[in-house]
Amino acid sequence: MSDAISLPPSVVPKGAGPAPLIDPFQRAITYLRISVTDRCDLRCAYCMSETMQFLPKRDLLSLEELDRLCGVFIARGVRKLRITGGEPLVRRDIMHLFRRLSRHLDSGALKELTLTTNGTQLARFAPELAALGVKRVNVSLDTLDAVKFKDITRRGELPVVLAGIEAARKAGMQVKINAVALRDVNGDEIPDMIAWAHGLGMDLTLIEVMPLGEIEADRTDQFLPLSVARQRLESRYTLTPLPDRTGGPARYVRVEETGGRLGFITPLTHNFCESCNRVRLTCTGQLYLCLGQEDSADLRAVLRATNDDAVLARAVEEAITRKPKGHDFVIERQRPAAVPRHMSVTGG
Ligand code: SAM
Ligand code: SF4
Repeated sequence: MSDAISLPPSVVPKGAGPAPLIDPFQRAITYLRISVTDRCDLRCAYCMSETMQFLPKRDLLSLEELDRLCGVFIARGVRKLRITGGEPLVRRDIMHLFRRLSRHLDSGALKELTLTTNGTQLARFAPELAALGVKRVNVSLDTLDAVKFKDITRRGELPVVLAGIEAARKAGMQVKINAVALRDVNGDEIPDMIAWAHGLGMDLTLIEVMPLGEIEADRTDQFLPLSVARQRLESRYTLTPLPDRTGGPARYVRVEETGGRLGFITPLTHNFCESCNRVRLTCTGQLYLCLGQEDSADLRAVLRATNDDAVLARAVEEAITRKPKGHDFVIERQRPAAVPRHMSVTGG
């Protein structure tokens, strides 16, 4: 936890503009992911439990506080913001935040403003998001089977999400589909999802299930190693590795038969922490330096203690000096989740 009184002096040299945020492993931190709510209109079985206790509203950062904090990160060299959650588009007045943040796109200070969503509200919001400069959106979708979809999400309607994806594409946004690979649930559907996504010109990224937060199921039963999924895919498709890097954990291949791009996020079987360029802000203003580690900085306390953005910037700088080298996820039977926070709190 950071203490506003004992913060180190700013690393910003006078008159030289802000130095980029560099962590102890010489990684420039240019990407902030922000969870704007822990709430969601779905209850994906690998993400949440059926009966989640959500946070009281007073614990959440207000939209004004989120805007102020994002401004501080941008002034300190962050170039990419991703709004996530929980489901970001169920937060009341969320478009107010997008409208505020879009001024940083207009000024050129921010290179990219984007979001990760389950797509249920996209049909409503896509036109305005696109008009505000949101060029790309990640939509999480684990199956194209409506019955399975309801089963995985415990309440979702597949056609609503498909309509959201369509609306985003129509509005001119580039859509990427994220699918968590779930053993015995969607493993056999992956080739069809590739054909569908690539047929519509969308990238597809597969994700290994991570041990984040307690749920009813045992994640060992859900876990499908992507090394196995990839091997199976190679019997149908020709996968050519691509050099594309986003500073993130995904590694990409081109599927020669479709011409589309397929990503693999493999935190369990292979991690790529050495090039990590990101930190994550929870909806309560805790800055996590790594998705899989516990260390954090309480930026809400600093936000609420002072109106001085320079103090806030120093709290951010101090936190970055504590960014760990990487995570060490393992999924083992009869072990509590490796990280107690659900993905919906830290922001996926
Ligand atoms: N609700 C939005 C959505 O589903 O896109 C944004 C938040 S959600 C937490 C972000 C991403 O995290 C989704 O792609 C979801 O599938 C993924 N996710 C959630 N829990 C996960 C877990 N335990 N392991 C791996 N991915 C997870
Ligand atoms: Fe909600 Fe996204 Fe978690 Fe599914 S993965 S329960 S949509 S936050």
